[in-house]
Amino acid sequence: MLVLKFGGTSVGSPERIKALKNLVIDNNSKIVVLSAMSGTTNALVEIANCFYKKKDAEAFQQIADLEKKYVETIQELFVNPTHFKQSLDFITCQFNYLKSFSSNTFGNSEEKAILAQGELLSTTLFSNYLNETGINCVLLPALNFMRITENEEPDTNFIKENLTKELAQHNNCKLFITQGYICRNSFGEIDNLKRGGSDYSASLIGAAVNAEEIQIWTDIDGMHNNDPRIVDNTKPIAQLSFDEAAELAYFGAKILHPSSVLPAKTNNIPVRLKNTMQPEAKGTLISTHSSGKGIKAIAAKDNITAIKIKSGRMLLAYGFLRKVFEIFEAYKTPIDMITTSEVAVSVTIDETKYLNEIIDELKNYGIVEIDKDLSIICVVGDFIAESKGYALKIFDALQNIPIRMISYGGSMHNVSMLVNTSDKKEALISLNNKLF
Ligand code: ASP
Ligand code: MG
Repeated sequence: MLVLKFGGTSVGSPERIKALKNLVIDNNSKIVVLSAMSGTTNALVEIANCFYKKKDAEAFQQIADLEKKYVETIQELFVNPTHFKQSLDFITCQFNYLKSFSSNTFGNSEEKAILAQGELLSTTLFSNYLNETGINCVLLPALNFMRITENEEPDTNFIKENLTKELAQHNNCKLFITQGYICRNSFGEIDNLKRGGSDYSASLIGAAVNAEEIQIWTDIDGMHNNDPRIVDNTKPIAQLSFDEAAELAYFGAKILHPSSVLPAKTNNIPVRLKNTMQPEAKGTLISTHSSGKGIKAIAAKDNITAIKIKSGRMLLAYGFLRKVFEIFEAYKTPIDMITTSEVAVSVTIDETKYLNEIIDELKNYGIVEIDKDLSIICVVGDFIAESKGYALKIFDALQNIPIRMISYGGSMHNVSMLVNTSDKKEALISLNNKLF
């Protein structure tokens, strides 16, 4: 079994949906995981925000605008009146549901029900389209098998058991379609795997069915060795190890949701990144094998906040770091980078929801300083064997750029530097010139 995930642009228009058909109709057994059509989830977020702000009229206007887009899509997609009518009825039903919300009773679970509509729409339209063109497929409702626990972690046993049951009902079918991103929570309510979570869905599904391969199809030909939005002439990386891919995905390579590496790694299932616009391009293969030693890629992550805690108490003391980390844990705020000296510790975070509360508590342990608008530049590769010389090359490239923090040696796959976001572009270009 293969698992193929297609992102929003791959289903973003009638033409793309038609082209997608050709990528899924070979004879391999597969589960196709779809995102919402591009722009839809953002529109649904906006609609939910309007209800939160008690702007119902604005919400209904946006719902009507979105509905119009979907009606136009199916007008272009279907020729057979029966399939057109079937899709129109479905769209009408889903949008009537959206119109049934009101700010008077609007909360978290209503928001999540709204956010789930994008994937429900894209998968139903795609499977109706396949049916119209005479292709046999089964639409698997992700809400029947995808579930998270009360800690918002995937409930892998539940997923495996229930997905297996769903598949067993269609023994003769080779082509399954399902929704990415959406799931139920431990109360059975509709929930989701957070923005960009369709990749994670695909990886969890791949792990649950022990797939031969998980393919993530987007609109770029694999993971690149630098940020193609900032640096010219970047190149796709043919092969990466799971660890290298995890570092790159986490530190900024937007192509793959960082959480999706772990289920694949744990079950040793290769992940292939492919380009729907250029299906013949090789893309990137992520597996236990890396393509040898050395520097593979550079990525950058923005919106980083650095927190420094200076304390005389840290001197020769033990247990200080634990106290500091416990504060971040209490506010469920992940730490990305950390560096220490004998009298101070600096950490970075990108989730600042509880920053003020965290600062207040940290003040019990020392003087706290905050820096905002920072970026982590992360150089990824396999630094195990000839570990000499890499740091020199990297810092030589960055000689004109003020560096706020450096993290080296945390893993054999990553060297990270914290810089001002205003220096990021220069840093990425300079590293590109010196390292590749
Ligand atoms: N549709 C969701 C989003 O836009 C999930 C995804 O595309 O991965 O975030
Ligand atoms: Mg994505």
